[in-house]
Amino acid sequence: MKSLWSNKAAKDLSSIDLVVYTSRLIGANTNLVLWGGGNSSIKTIGSDHTGKKCEILWIKGSGSDMRTIAPKNFTPLRLQDLLPLQQRDAMTDEAMVDYQMKSMLNPKAPKPSIETLLHAFLPPAHIYHTHADAICALTDTPKSKKIIREVFGKTVALVSYTRPGFLLSKRVAEAYKKTPNITAIILDKHGLITFGKTAKTAYDMTIKMVSQAEAYAAEKRKGKTPMGPLQIKGLPVNKRRALAAMIAPILRGEISHNKHVVLRYEDTPTLLQFIGSEKAKKLTQIGPFTPDHLMHTRPWPLFVDVKDPADLQSLKQALHKSLTSYRKRAVDYFERYKPEGVTILDANPRVILIPGIGMFSTGKNRAAANIPHDLYMHTYPVIEAATAIDRYRTISLKETCDFEYWPMENFKLTLLPPEKTFSRKIVLITGAAGAIGSAIASAFIEAGACVVLTDIDEKKTCALADKLNEAVGSRQAVAITMDVCSEHEVKRGFEAAVLAFGGLDIFISNAGIARPSSVDNLSLSDWEASLSVNATGHLLTSQAALKIMKAQKLGGSIVVVTTKNVLAPGKDFGAYSASKAAQTQLARIMAIENASVGIRVNMVTPDGIFEGSGLWSQSVREERAEAHGIALDEVEDFYAKRNLLQTPIYARDVAEGVLFLASERAAKTTGAILPIDGGLREAFPR
Ligand code: ZN
Repeated sequence: MKSLWSNKAAKDLSSIDLVVYTSRLIGANTNLVLWGGGNSSIKTIGSDHTGKKCEILWIKGSGSDMRTIAPKNFTPLRLQDLLPLQQRDAMTDEAMVDYQMKSMLNPKAPKPSIETLLHAFLPPAHIYHTHADAICALTDTPKSKKIIREVFGKTVALVSYTRPGFLLSKRVAEAYKKTPNITAIILDKHGLITFGKTAKTAYDMTIKMVSQAEAYAAEKRKGKTPMGPLQIKGLPVNKRRALAAMIAPILRGEISHNKHVVLRYEDTPTLLQFIGSEKAKKLTQIGPFTPDHLMHTRPWPLFVDVKDPADLQSLKQALHKSLTSYRKRAVDYFERYKPEGVTILDANPRVILIPGIGMFSTGKNRAAANIPHDLYMHTYPVIEAATAIDRYRTISLKETCDFEYWPMENFKLTLLPPEKTFSRKIVLITGAAGAIGSAIASAFIEAGACVVLTDIDEKKTCALADKLNEAVGSRQAVAITMDVCSEHEVKRGFEAAVLAFGGLDIFISNAGIARPSSVDNLSLSDWEASLSVNATGHLLTSQAALKIMKAQKLGGSIVVVTTKNVLAPGKDFGAYSASKAAQTQLARIMAIENASVGIRVNMVTPDGIFEGSGLWSQSVREERAEAHGIALDEVEDFYAKRNLLQTPIYARDVAEGVLFLASERAAKTTGAILPIDGGLREAFPR
């Protein structure tokens, strides 16, 4: 492992800035810590609020991530308050947390890490705790004690597995006192603690020990195939992705009954090699390589025991069978080992492994699904390495359940912000790059949805996705170039959408074109183009959306952006109005046909939107000005003045209506038309 330390960067850093710098170096290396794992501390001399001089322990606060940690994420505690606790024999978690809170120098600082006492009881000024993959590959074996001694000699102590808290802190302190010239402490089946007089000493020791462990594993691996021979080869990329797109909605439907989840798909060659190996079925079911992962991955991934993944039917059967036995096992495990007074969290897997196809991970949105994904991408190499070294073994099931249902660990979940209205929902919008489409997309993203933006304009769609993702700071939107008129492109586009997020809950049929002309002058090509986009395009995309929604068996919502012209046609809008009328009538039929499976289909009928609209090109404006007998610069005003509320209609007004109809607030509405036209008497739906 390469050191990222820079003397130049660290030179002028003061105590807390130095620990932030070093923590970030550690956080930047995913082979050391992932997603909030690990912690760090520094002991300094300072003064309390009365001005009295005191020794201060600055410890990483609960819930922060080392990759992005900042000074505000460290909590200062009075060290002389904490040290006398070493004399006690026992302390409950609650009493310990309460005591720690009372020792905080800044009551507004975050809740200190559950491993605060461990840092307090160890004398060195700088302490770093990681869940380094290479170290865990050594500890996650039955002979860990012997192996640690073999790799690191006598100056590294191994503390037997103990759940973090008072007892572990005491055991670590005792190990430190007992071993002369100690340079680091390894926590069996958990991770590594390094320390030193300076941040650099502690950091260097982390890198050195991980490098030694990596070299040892590489040596042990030579000439071996730890996972056994390959039994199921990864299918060719196009084949496996097409199958993944077919199986994902079924999987999502099966595991979303309590709460919807979003899926992330992964199919790297090394992962496929691992999943397809002889021992994968057995070794993946042992446990996470550090208990810290339990909150995100649960004790085991679902291993779909399929013999012929190329056959969709056997894939479906294997998924159903494996999932049923997974849930039974999860319930049995809980019933057998549950601590007092807890209820089962969820019997569904967070990581799903399918030989030949790849891996799915789950979460409330794409960012959340990245967590079990990243953890598992580090888990399988640890399983392989531990198997090459000895045998893969983690903590017992009782210890696993104690950790998984430990209130101190689950406290972290309460730090998460409340979920938004469309959190856990997947939306696909056609014509997303246009004025109405992008306003709808922005509104869904703001409301927490994962959004698939489709449009024929690749550049504009990609730019919109980038803009939306930047605003939320995660990949919540994906751009797919798709012509709604092409059966092939629609198939490919919806397949890509499913691979992006795992399914579909809300479909917004929005793509449309306007080719104004009087009927006698209307060219056949304009007529056909209008029918093609506005009617056939709507049919093709709706068919694809319904197929996914039906495979999920979770119901769904379709909102069709049609036009006021369907209810009150205007002259010279023949091709537009007739094709949009076909779309509207199709939507009504869809409402009738799909109500029994919980899919609602509703429509909005906006009047002319000028702001950024692709429909209102210069030529359309000119044509409309002529049709209404008004000057060109009066067109917008004319449209605003003609409605009852005398108001212009904006794209965001349409988005409001669309989101309402798509939401649970409209749960009892289907087949309905919601006009968004400022009130037009002739366009009242009847
Ligand atoms: Zn830990």
